[in-house]
Amino acid sequence: MTVTEENVETLDVFGSRARAWIEANLPSWDDDEVDSHTLQNLLFDNGFAGIAFPREYGGAGLTLAHQKVFYDTAAELRRQVPSTYMVSIGMMAPTILDSASHEAKLRFLPKALRGDETWMQLLSEPRGGSDMAGSTTRLTRDGDIYVLNGAKMWSSGAYESTYGLCLCRSDWNAPKHRGLSMIAVPLQGTPGLELHRTRAANGNLGEFCEESFVDVQLPVDNLIGEESKGWSVAQTLLFHERNAVANIGYGYLGRTAARSGSAQRSNFGVLAVPEMVERARARGGSPEARQAIADAFIEETVLGITSGRIMAGMRVGTHKGQWGSMLKLQGSVAAHERARTALVVSGADGVIWDGDEVRIDNPGTTWLGCRGGTLAGGSNEMQRNIVSERLLGLPREPSFDRDLPFNEVIRNQGKL
Ligand SMILES: Cc1cc2nc3c(=O)[nH]c(=O)nc-3n(C[C@H](O)[C@H](O)[C@H](O)COP(=O)(O)OP(=O)(O)OC[C@H]3O[C@@H](n4cnc5c(N)ncnc54)[C@H](O)[C@@H]3O)c2cc1C
Repeated sequence: MTVTEENVETLDVFGSRARAWIEANLPSWDDDEVDSHTLQNLLFDNGFAGIAFPREYGGAGLTLAHQKVFYDTAAELRRQVPSTYMVSIGMMAPTILDSASHEAKLRFLPKALRGDETWMQLLSEPRGGSDMAGSTTRLTRDGDIYVLNGAKMWSSGAYESTYGLCLCRSDWNAPKHRGLSMIAVPLQGTPGLELHRTRAANGNLGEFCEESFVDVQLPVDNLIGEESKGWSVAQTLLFHERNAVANIGYGYLGRTAARSGSAQRSNFGVLAVPEMVERARARGGSPEARQAIADAFIEETVLGITSGRIMAGMRVGTHKGQWGSMLKLQGSVAAHERARTALVVSGADGVIWDGDEVRIDNPGTTWLGCRGGTLAGGSNEMQRNIVSERLLGLPREPSFDRDLPFNEVIRNQGKL
């Protein structure tokens, strides 16, 4: 059945049904932590996973507003929800929904929404992440298969994911944006694929990965979207990524209201205002600390209101397009500022901990890790470009290579 305004369950009816189910089935924040896969299976098997995805692909056939009601209710009732599917279900699954063939959606989406297969993105390359359209990872058609050669980096979670959605070049004679394809690469035990885990500046080992592909063979059915039309798939992916990072759209999965410990944390694991107040009080509360905490509170309030306004606008159709970029920009700057404040109010306690293991939830390491939020999903400079060009309608950034055949672009750069 097609979802239309007339036949979709009202938010009130859905809200009551969801509340009753959540109360009866989801563990409390005070219970032992249940792993994300088990929780995601539970949601899927009871029709509460992929709430805004069509039923034929394993979803609940409802809307993003219903999804928000579900996760808000779970947070209000202090119930555990899966915490690890922001990328796979909040970003990659909607990209597949928007871009893949019907057969590919049937093949991939139900398993992704149940959490049985997970997805991540393979976009950035050693030669640069911002210039995504300059990808030099090579995809060549060879009879019934594709062959992939090249390298990717900064790939979050690749070591534990089932598939990476990989942006690669399939036509070297076309201009840079028009010769790209997007293909699903199985990441576990694939011949020709080597994967290394790297250590981030905050000490976290292994979340980031680097991959090299040497003659990796892939079925043609793994292509997402049409051959050499991958740029629009990449744009779709980035759109969902920026929304997810801004905690709107399909990425609204209750992240900010996870279980008790992290419930005290705002985005990127930074101490939330009440916890900062406690720490500042314990240390005597200097006027500078008071001012910085007040600023953090104001910023958080403004961000919450702006995000609510944009979500409402998306629902009624007044806010179409790249509003997630604005929220991501505002959120990542605020998070970094808040991380600095948390460090200031924590004093020496912010940079020391017991034991030999790196504590990535410590204010010092959080401050280091927080810089990632200003880069992931496109750096702040790129978000400012998007806000100015796509939301404010200012002139496009000049480009010298937009219409040249890509072969010629890299020949001019001395890379061929
Ligand atoms: C936490 C985290 C998770 C990530 N996860 C993934 C992932 O899962 N998959 C993946 O593919 N990548 C991932 N990345 C990589 C990320 O997408 C890139 O770091 C980002 O796109 C920037 O690319 P770069 O680091 O190569 O910097 P560069 O592109 O080399 O840029 C360097 C600097 O130049 C600036 N700059 C570049 N071009 C312009 C321009 N036109 N105008 C103004 N300034 C410009 C940039 O803003 C930046 O400050 C992740 C990064 C982080 C930090």
